[in-house]
Amino acid sequence: EIIEAGWNFDNSYARLPEIFFSEVDPTPVREPKLVILNERLATSLGLNVEALQSDKGIAALAGNRILDGALPLAQAYAGHQFGHFTKLGDGRALLLGEQITPQGERMDIQLKGSGRTPYSRGGDGRAALGPMLREYIISEAMHALGIPTTRSLAVVTTGEPIIRETLLPGAILTRVAASHLRVGTFQYAANWGTVNDLRTLADYALERHFPGFDEVEHRYLFLLQEVIKRQAVLVAKWQLVGFVHGVMNTDNMTISGETIDYGPCAFMDTYDPATVFSSIDTQGRYAYGNQPPIAGWNLARFAEALLPLFDENPERAVELAQEEVSGFIQLYRREWLAGMRAKLGLFNEEIEDQSLIEDLLQIMHKHRADYTNTFLALTFDRTEDTCLFGSPKFAEWHKRWQARLGRQVESKEDSHQLMRNSNPAIIPRNHRVEEVLEAAINGDTSVMERFLDVLSRPYAHTPDQAEYAKPSESTRPYRTFCG
Ligand code: AMP
Ligand code: MG
Ligand code: MG
Repeated sequence: EIIEAGWNFDNSYARLPEIFFSEVDPTPVREPKLVILNERLATSLGLNVEALQSDKGIAALAGNRILDGALPLAQAYAGHQFGHFTKLGDGRALLLGEQITPQGERMDIQLKGSGRTPYSRGGDGRAALGPMLREYIISEAMHALGIPTTRSLAVVTTGEPIIRETLLPGAILTRVAASHLRVGTFQYAANWGTVNDLRTLADYALERHFPGFDEVEHRYLFLLQEVIKRQAVLVAKWQLVGFVHGVMNTDNMTISGETIDYGPCAFMDTYDPATVFSSIDTQGRYAYGNQPPIAGWNLARFAEALLPLFDENPERAVELAQEEVSGFIQLYRREWLAGMRAKLGLFNEEIEDQSLIEDLLQIMHKHRADYTNTFLALTFDRTEDTCLFGSPKFAEWHKRWQARLGRQVESKEDSHQLMRNSNPAIIPRNHRVEEVLEAAINGDTSVMERFLDVLSRPYAHTPDQAEYAKPSESTRPYRTFCG
């Protein structure tokens, strides 16, 4: 019997000027096998789980079968990679189309690892199982933490080895996003398109992500303002959970405000603004503490790309752009401060809050305290379990904090609840991620399924989460590699 999978595609991106994409089909693979399917996400997209799990369903997730209504294409974009501007594009990914969900949302459905495209340059267009599962785990953890992100619908293995330093099992990830428009898409339009192409792209982004644009006086400045706001919110959320993206190139910054590209990312254990995980980020350009200014730098590149749309007078256009971009850091700091207040159980605002927070972070830095667990210990009044216990500076800080809590009308219980909801019990710790990936690659996905379940409720604070809370005992710094 045939079960309808529920795919319901539109292809609005394909209606953009043709410089923005290349139509190309996925390259079929030898032996597709489903490794993991995100059943809850599937259901919310209006998809039938059983149909996705059938041979036909899996063939579609592997790119062996083109779904009705799909129009596979590789998106063109450019980007500053570690500061150097390059022409890029989907070298190993294809947009199948936009799924129109039962709620009427429009979500990009993309295959990652689906074969070569005109933008592949020297690459093989393929992806390895480990990095695709890693993206699946971390993106789903980010979503559960309440952080805007691309999602992961499924991972299939291809039955074909891929060549990296060693032979690795090949895999394809199905990625779901509000869109894959990037700062780099606009840089591409500005450098290789006409002003009309650029305007068409900007109108498309407004239409897709920023309702209300037709009520404002200047829609392209509005676009810049809204993207700046979303990135301020996003990067503040990263900082608050200790997430290090690792490769904040302009092609990896979305217009929608979603986190994208889970290559070399990782969560920080020990609090240190200089934390870097990526083996190639030798200068620390994308270190934890640099993420806010780098976001500002990327937004300046976005504004630059939009300049011709701001004003006919180039000097005036620059002035307008600069005014908006220079506001980013303040917006970011406001978001961050609000989030930090919540992490410390503070409801109202006092001038001294900023220094209260910064002093705590400084003590944590000095004592190499675990970022997540310090806030958990404060939440559950277990500071005797932390390395800060016994430090006179920390004792003094703790007193100040208690006095500060006493100066608000909300009760201790209210503060505790706020802290429970603002300080995750669990983050995807690096050694845990490695452990579940190893099991999954060796054919046992049960460890990963269990990990994903615990990660899906980071603010539940249930006993089964405790075993995942400990940082690795290894003293070796953790390093990530591009997949
Ligand atoms: P990323 O570092 O993941 O942001 O990727 C940078 C660029 O390299 C993008 O244009 C990717 O599509 C491309 N790329 C990464 N891996 C491959 C691959 N295996 N084959 C072809 N292109 C790739
Ligand atoms: Mg990328
Ligand atoms: Mg990548």
